[in-house]
Amino acid sequence: MASIVLQRTNQKMPLVGFGLWKVTNETCADTVFNAIKAGYRLFDGAGDYGNEKEAGDGIKRAIDAGLVKREDLFITSKLWNTFHAKDHVKQLAQYQLKLWGLEYFDLFLVHFPISLQYVDPAHRFPPGWTGDDGKVHLQNTPFQETWTAMEGLVDEGLTKNIGVSNTTGSLLLDILRYARYVPQVAQVELHPYLTQEPFLELARTLGIAVTAYSSFGPQGWVELGMGKNLTLLMEHTEITSVASKYGKTPAQVLLRWATQQGLAVIPKSNSETRLLENLDCVEFNLEEADIKAISSLNKNLRLNNPAEIDPHLAIFA
Ligand code: NAD
Repeated sequence: MASIVLQRTNQKMPLVGFGLWKVTNETCADTVFNAIKAGYRLFDGAGDYGNEKEAGDGIKRAIDAGLVKREDLFITSKLWNTFHAKDHVKQLAQYQLKLWGLEYFDLFLVHFPISLQYVDPAHRFPPGWTGDDGKVHLQNTPFQETWTAMEGLVDEGLTKNIGVSNTTGSLLLDILRYARYVPQVAQVELHPYLTQEPFLELARTLGIAVTAYSSFGPQGWVELGMGKNLTLLMEHTEITSVASKYGKTPAQVLLRWATQQGLAVIPKSNSETRLLENLDCVEFNLEEADIKAISSLNKNLRLNNPAEIDPHLAIFA
């Protein structure tokens, strides 16, 4: 399976994985089981997705059925914003591992560089963006405190690799000033409408692997009422014409555009045909000119921007 070798551990992270956001609790165990059967080995979860227990059930079923061993899988989860304080990082990693039924994560990411007031998981989990009053409550935890606690998770064997998500270059550079363990992965929104070349160049220079999320651009956001006025990438003539040139689907072209640039991808689909189609996206190569033409669609369009929830959360400003 095509993969990226992560710095420090030399662990192989599959280039194509399966994203668990918006996979419903009712279907999640079956979806994960079927995805493993189809050949997926990386699952991208998060406390915030609220389906870790069901994802873990799907994994257990696949292991019990002899389809895979734990060590064949690469499981990612993420620390939510309300757990950034040093005492909460380990508490939550343990809580989430228990939900999954796992002893360790392969990768644990800080979901956003945003610290919000603690919410006891016994009260509400996942806690979401706002308190019981429907308002956003910031908490003054400096990122260094969170990162140092994340490093502690590695020392204690709760995760093999650590990283950050929804980050910009300035945060990566700041972490390097105090890190014992440099982030091994940065997971960021990246698609032909948001190509982020300068960020990629920095990550390459620092040896940090990049996972691109929302590879299909607005596709996964339309159901949330966002990006409706945009041409869907899968329907864009630039993408459809490249797809017919190679005899591939627009989804495969979008995923190959990313993977050929060395990025990992984590598309999500509930359909069995699309599961296979997405996994099978590394078996052809786009010509350099086609990659460039697709990149020229860039409009710096960010779909996942917390500033839209509250202006205090404008991490990309
Ligand atoms: P995506 O780009 O994977 O798009 C999903 C949409 O595309 C769904 O509507 C799906 O039905 C459709 N689709 C999937 N395969 C298709 C195919 N072959 N043909 C046609 N349509 C297809 O979107 P996403 O959910 O935004 O991102 C994927 C994953 O990235 C998430 O599940 C999650 O794991 C991760 N993610 C992370 C963050 C973060 O903050 N770190 C944010 C968003 C997503």
